[in-house]
Amino acid sequence: MSGYELVVGLEIHAQLVTKTKAFCRCANRYGAEPNTLVCPVCLGTPGALPVFNREVVAQATRLAIALGADIHLHSRFDRKNYFYPDLPKGYQISQFDHPFSTGGHLSFIVNGSTKSINITRAHLEEDAGKSMHLADGSTIVDLNRCGVPLIEIVSEPEFRAAEEAGAYLSAMRELLRFIGVCDGNMDEGSLRCDANVSVRKIGEPEFRERCEMKNLNSIRSVERAIAAETKRQIAIYEQGGVIHRQTLQWNEQEERLIPMRVKEGSDDYRYFPEPDLPELRITQAFVDDIRASMPMLPEQLREKYSTTYKLNREAVYYLAIDIRISGYTDTLIETGSTAQSAAKWVMGPVTRSLNERGWSFDEFSRRVPAATLSGLIQKTDRGDITLGQANAVFKALIVKPEKSPDEIVAELGIEVMRDEVKLGAIISEIVSEHPEELAKFREGKTKMVGFFMGLVMQATKGQADAQLAKNVLMELLEAKE
Ligand code: ADP
Ligand code: MG
Ligand code: ZN
Repeated sequence: MSGYELVVGLEIHAQLVTKTKAFCRCANRYGAEPNTLVCPVCLGTPGALPVFNREVVAQATRLAIALGADIHLHSRFDRKNYFYPDLPKGYQISQFDHPFSTGGHLSFIVNGSTKSINITRAHLEEDAGKSMHLADGSTIVDLNRCGVPLIEIVSEPEFRAAEEAGAYLSAMRELLRFIGVCDGNMDEGSLRCDANVSVRKIGEPEFRERCEMKNLNSIRSVERAIAAETKRQIAIYEQGGVIHRQTLQWNEQEERLIPMRVKEGSDDYRYFPEPDLPELRITQAFVDDIRASMPMLPEQLREKYSTTYKLNREAVYYLAIDIRISGYTDTLIETGSTAQSAAKWVMGPVTRSLNERGWSFDEFSRRVPAATLSGLIQKTDRGDITLGQANAVFKALIVKPEKSPDEIVAELGIEVMRDEVKLGAIISEIVSEHPEELAKFREGKTKMVGFFMGLVMQATKGQADAQLAKNVLMELLEAKE
């Protein structure tokens, strides 16, 4: 790497979450029996006419707003012509020189500092089918994906390290999921990334020739493939060679790049305006309505959590990563929990129960609505029940969602033991039964307090008011013989 600088631009393809495909009524759904979600329009049978799906433009608008992009009220569809077995039409409907939006940016954290990358454009297009290469050397084609709506987000060549590209992709996935535009599932191909890579000598004013890498289907592959390609290009330059523009395929298993083809320039695609679709026109009022309905975005939420609620960095990131988690946390706070307690409960018991039971957040919040948990949190913070008891109530609550925390408290016979006389009797008995431990305490071993408190909680089945019990215990331990 010495003396060289890396230059990377990313093209992200995100499948939009819509009920139907971009230009026909076929379902937009992953995992169906191959070639069952198809019709003359998405197969491109001569004479079939596309009709644009309004849902697509609403999703694209949400994303463009979230990226701070300029939305073009008029944009145009073009045909991108190429031959491939998974593209029976012989062309893809895309947008070329009049894209849906231009500009915008995305910020993310990498190695502890914030970096912002400018976005060139985001345009609409349709997906192609999927070829599957079998072990016996044959290839089969599934056309269910033909016509699935995509948004392609093209970044400026501003990445200077592989980790920056990985962090950007991960932030983009988080944002897409947060606003419900794409499910971000890279294993299923609903989010895909191509990386354009070149290197140049540090200080050189111009960019050099680049290569494009396809088939990067995880954040890890993006980083590894960029690192491998950087090495390859530097080695070629060091030997006095030249880089030719080409497309490479990243082989995840073998961790190496395989040349695919000499990269086509845009001339080779013979783009021309799609004759079967009118210009895409939206109104400013449509954009404004969508803007008004947008949730607070992760970046703004993090600001709120750190500045207004003074939560620590771990909590700020954890809570703002998913709109369901942030929504749930916000409701806990709105219904009376302190931000600190809300964060502690969501990151602790709530998350543990999701992991243990394999529930989605939606499933969890149907069982334990935020207002219900908020009641329990406040009860605990007031000292009506101890933290240990609250955990027991919580565990019962998630399996008996029809009960209220109060009913469960009654059912479990939970009460806080605050009777000082009764506590005093229990504790002095414990102390007198453990003369050796008492002696150790009096020799200065303060950790014996923990030992005695453990016995107190055992004897009271966790019901003792912890603060009161400790006061009583300390008095007895420190009392003169
Ligand atoms: P194409 O039409 O070949 O896809 P684009 O102009 O759309 O080309 O650019 C594709 C991507 O390549 C963009 O993300 C851009 O930032 C990036 N890119 C452009 N030039 C370079 C370069 N010299 N080195 C690395 N990346 C580049
Ligand atoms: Mg491109
Ligand atoms: Zn169809």
